[in-house]
This record gives sequence, structure tokens and C-alpha cells, in this order.
Amino acid sequence: MSTRPRKPDTQLAHLGRDPKSQHGAVNPPVYHASTILYKDVESLRAAKSIRMRKDAVTYGRAGTPITFALQDSVAELEGGYGAIAVSSGLAAVTASIMALVQAGDHVLMTDSVYGPARAFCDSTLARFGVETTYYDPLIGGGIASLIRENTRIVFTESPGSQTFEVQDIPAIAEAAHAAGVAVLMDNTWGTPLYCKPFELGVDVSIHAGTKYIVGHSDAMLGMIVTSEAYYETVRRCVMSLGHSAAPDDVYLGLRGFRTLSVRLERHHRTGVALASWLQQRPEVARVMHPALPDDPGHAIWKRDFGGACGLFGLVLHPVAQQALDEMLDHLELYGMGYSWGGFESLIIPTDPQSIRTATEWTDPGPSLRIHAGLEDIDDLIADLEAGFSRLNRAMAAE
Ligand SMILES: *Cc1c(COP(=O)(O)O)cnc(C)c1O
Repeated sequence: MSTRPRKPDTQLAHLGRDPKSQHGAVNPPVYHASTILYKDVESLRAAKSIRMRKDAVTYGRAGTPITFALQDSVAELEGGYGAIAVSSGLAAVTASIMALVQAGDHVLMTDSVYGPARAFCDSTLARFGVETTYYDPLIGGGIASLIRENTRIVFTESPGSQTFEVQDIPAIAEAAHAAGVAVLMDNTWGTPLYCKPFELGVDVSIHAGTKYIVGHSDAMLGMIVTSEAYYETVRRCVMSLGHSAAPDDVYLGLRGFRTLSVRLERHHRTGVALASWLQQRPEVARVMHPALPDDPGHAIWKRDFGGACGLFGLVLHPVAQQALDEMLDHLELYGMGYSWGGFESLIIPTDPQSIRTATEWTDPGPSLRIHAGLEDIDDLIADLEAGFSRLNRAMAAE
């Protein structure tokens, strides 16, 4: 076999499976297991010492071969040392943070972080005596001035939830590492295919696998990928918290993984096309999509990302809520609901102002978040166009 490193598309098709060892079946089998039987008492006793091995089948909660197949595949694609699958993206966020702090410690958290991650810091983490300071996502190397003696984590998410600011991760990582602080990144938007956080200086990368890895809106899954230095600490904490990922959901994650590249290519293309079309609409004040050449985050996005997913935001000019509701309520192709990353298009109103404390949100008009699905772009545009007509009719009737 050649030693030339394989390209990502080939990795997606071939990582984590070994048909020869499973009667030729293309995909790895799903093990439904809690109890694992040991062949003798000696191997039962030995289980404790091999528990931390990446491929040790010791108990259902710690994973079975299909869990390891998904974990190894995601870690290798992303360029991390090891991955740990958990039951949701939020569990991946909270377990990663808890692994690295204790009472009296301090966490620096981007102001553009996923809302429930912020809620975790403000409630649970605070209750255990860990303080969180929110910082401007565009702070870059300036993060150094916020690092205290007891700071343990700089948490990043790029682009930011709802507002899509692109963070200068290498600059943040350099400042954090100079002070011995770990850098965590929620890389759900970039996916292990389009962003390689370990090349940017990140120590722990987090994914809501629920989104593009699963890719079909039918399972919850979280992935934590770490560098070698952080693997054991994070894994021990995940195990002590009792997290695990259900076998059927892991299977769906691995199945989604196979088509990540072809899906994302289309999500990227349709998302950019929709975003560009929206930029021309008189109702739209601005579009937040880092792949647009005039987006403030474009240069860093181009430097650090290999592509864009289908998720972006926009701000409308001020409009009566009832007119906006007319637009949203009768869309035929865009579903309204949380989460994203499936094959279907989605739209929701967002409220950045309500989830920021370090930076000010000054746009007067309402904001929306769109997930560009795999439908035809002409149909997606026509549906929005009809929506804007309803909005304008409702405004004229005011
Ligand atoms: C959805 C999401 C999460 C949480 O994932 P769940 O699987 O829904 O728990 C975490 N981070 C980001 C950026 C997300 O979009």
C-alpha cells in the first residue's frame, strides 16, 4: 500500500471499516450491548487497566467497535489524536469544559457562543465556583489582556452562532498557549472536513455531530476530538460523567460521514447563491456569511476554512413583526425549527441581542438564520421571493 496520505474524499469513503473482518459486509455491524462477557476471570480483572485504550471493549457505555470506527474516522479526518463520541453536541461542549477546570478557575468564552453553552457556564459552571468572562469574538491576540492567573480555557466558536463572526483562531491560540491556557473550538459549522482546528492551534475540537455528520435530522450525537496531550484528561472526565453515544446513533453518524463531502459541496454552493441573492433584496440590511467576498470575516475564513456549510444569517430593515410573520408562516420549503445540517432548508428568527454581554448588537431590524438545504436553488429563491411579497403586502396594508 502506498504511504502517500489519502485525500479527504477517499478518507470519507474508507476510514473506519474493514469488510474482510465482517463477512464482506461494507459497513461495520452495530453492537447493541451493555454487558460485555469476559472469557475468564483474569481478563475480567485486566479490564480496568485497558479501559483507556481507544479500542478496548469493556462495557457498553465505553463504546463498541462501531463507536471506535466513528471516533477514529472523525479524529483522522480532522487531524486530531483521538475522538470521543457522546450523546449530543451540548454534552460534548460541557464535558470538554468540565474536564479542564476546577473550583476557583476562570474560563474565557466567546460572546458569539451557542446559547445553551453560555447557559451552562452561567448556571452549572458558576455553581461549581468557575467564573466565565465573555469576550468579543473579534478580539484576536488581544485575548492576552483578559487571561488571568486562574484562566484555564479560551473557548472559541467560529463562525459564531447566529452572528457568524470569524475568529482569528491562530492569534488567539498563540496568546493562550503563551499563558499555558487550553484552546477549545466548537467546530460544528466548519465540520472535520472544512476546518482543521489542530493546524490552527486548537487543543480540543467539538462537534454537534447532530448537524452535518449525521446530516439527516434523525439522530443526536456529539464528538470531542483532542490533541494527544489532552486526550486522557478529557476521556477520563467523559467516562466519569457517564456520557456515551447510543449504537444506532453512532451508526447514523458513520453513515452520514460517508457523504459529508458531496453534501457539503452542495450546501456551500446553495448557501452562497441564496446569500448573494438576499444581498440584492431591498428588504435586507445585511447578510452574515463569511464566504461572501464583502463579509468582514472573509479573509480569515478563506485562510482557515476549506469551504462553507449551508448555515448563515441576515438582518432585515426594520419591519412590523406581523409582516415578518406573514412571510415566515407561509413558506413552503423552509421548515421552522432548531438544529440544522440536514438535507432540508430551514429558517428561524434569531435574537442576537438577547444572548450577548461583551459586545453590543446595534442592528435595528429583525435577524434571521437560514439553513440552505439540498433542494434546487431556483425553488428556494422562489419561495423566499413569495415570502418577501407577503411581507411587503402586509407592510403596505399597515
Ligand atoms: C447545535 C449545536 C450544538 C449542540 O448540539 P446538540 O447535538 O443539539 O446538543 C453545539 N454547538 C453548536 C455550534 C451547535 O450549533
